[in-house]
Amino acid sequence: MTTAVVVGSGPNGLAAALTLAAEGVQVRVLEAADTVGGGTRTNELTVPGLLHDECSGFHPLAVDTPFSRRFDLSGHGLEWLWPQAQYAHPLDGGRGAVAWRSVEDTAAGLGADGRAWRSVFGYLSEQFGDIAEDFLRPMLHVPRHPFKLARFGLLSLPPAALTARRWSSAEARGLFGGVAAHAMRPFGSPVSSAIGVALGTAAHRYGWPVARGGSASIATALTSLLAEHGGTVETGVRVESLAELDSPDIVMLDVAPGAAVRIIGGAMPRRIAKALTRYRHGPGAFKVEFAVEGAVPWQHEQSRLAGTVHVGGSFEEMAAAESEVHRGRMPERPFVLVGQQFVADPSRARGDTVPVYAYAHVPAGYTGDATAALEAQIERFAPGFRDRVVARHVRSTLEMEQHNPNYVGGDVVTGANDALQLVFRPRPALDPYTLGVPGVYLCSAATPPGAGAHGMAGYNAARSALARLGA
Ligand SMILES: Cc1cc2nc3c(=O)[nH]c(=O)nc-3n(C[C@H](O)[C@H](O)[C@H](O)COP(=O)(O)OP(=O)(O)OC[C@H]3O[C@@H](n4cnc5c(N)ncnc54)[C@H](O)[C@@H]3O)c2cc1C
Repeated sequence: MTTAVVVGSGPNGLAAALTLAAEGVQVRVLEAADTVGGGTRTNELTVPGLLHDECSGFHPLAVDTPFSRRFDLSGHGLEWLWPQAQYAHPLDGGRGAVAWRSVEDTAAGLGADGRAWRSVFGYLSEQFGDIAEDFLRPMLHVPRHPFKLARFGLLSLPPAALTARRWSSAEARGLFGGVAAHAMRPFGSPVSSAIGVALGTAAHRYGWPVARGGSASIATALTSLLAEHGGTVETGVRVESLAELDSPDIVMLDVAPGAAVRIIGGAMPRRIAKALTRYRHGPGAFKVEFAVEGAVPWQHEQSRLAGTVHVGGSFEEMAAAESEVHRGRMPERPFVLVGQQFVADPSRARGDTVPVYAYAHVPAGYTGDATAALEAQIERFAPGFRDRVVARHVRSTLEMEQHNPNYVGGDVVTGANDALQLVFRPRPALDPYTLGVPGVYLCSAATPPGAGAHGMAGYNAARSALARLGA
């Protein structure tokens, strides 16, 4: 019987494990932490009973993928819940904008700019199923839907600053800037529109759902289905070297590229080790969980309905903050992402106290305390917020890396989304999952299609391994 060891139980590690186990491979997953799930863990971090997603909160790209179609997790307790508004962008003075599921409703809220919103997101959201099929795979392949992919590419290639010129109002520009900021790239850099266009399109096509009971339900469902296929997971086991494993036929590494170099050691061809050592990580995230009485008192009332609220003010302010972060300087007014998962999933709250999740974009490895700057940004658009906070839990960039070694310097997306790494990650190669050692693969978010709790990197890596076995 073919045997496999998967190092790391993030969504990609578990997806790889499941894909292999379903083909009859005997799979063991080894996880360094005491709990499974990597970026899909949920915990009571502030007050008992309040469920906080420690990392991933919203899952637009997990709803409908080749992996989700192959493995039905709904029978194992995974249920998606949608907020009424997918994401919102408050501005000063109680103004703001909202992305609804419907492109038409969103466009209607943007006045004269609605037409341009429709022209960017209308066609793409109708065709997103086909487009995603191509971009959820490594870039070097013959596209199944070349014309649709080309249209997506044309809108993705420009810098976010150029794409934003399609809109003139602060509301529409802010709405796009907030979603473009997910790339954690300067808005003037090439291809910095790509992630904003993809996530913005997905908001209309699939919404930005949360998992009932917390993102840990994703890991629980994956682990449960894996067990049905005979796979096992051991926690509290940190793998430092391939030599610790009993020479399985397949090794899947759900780790950052630098860690893969260390684990494989001298067995890795030098040119691959060199390429992986040059892999670039992005800026950091400074995360604060809040227990809040009632809810966040956003002045822009529709922001109260949104799962995600992008807090950064105008497009220009966000652009300046992201540039500062890239230069290694902490901005006075950072971009802050606020998660209100409880609006879709009230089971995470206790009585009138709700869990609110927030992280600020900060320089890589930032050692200062960004709590005050983060809170000031929320308070600016939600006066009275601080008075409602009954407890908080803070995680700096370094604590983020201690929590999960894949988040090097607090880089929560395991790799800078620069133009080269968006196309070729972790290195230019026809099969980017291979590591130059027979049977050993990288399957983390450092491989295509990149960050997110969708499991597609793990699924693709496992399929590559199975293809080489001739399964
Ligand atoms: C604050 C934050 C917010 C996010 N928001 C979202 C979001 O809303 N939506 C979304 O889709 N994604 C989001 N993400 C990103 C998402 O969580 C990650 O991209 C995803 O979890 C990557 O999955 P993975 O399996 O590649 O790795 P990870 O989830 O990072 O898991 C890797 C696992 O491997 C283990 N490991 C590492 N090294 C070893 C070793 N040597 N031995 C044994 N085990 C090891 C780690 O402990 C960890 O459990 C967010 C991340 C963070 C931190």
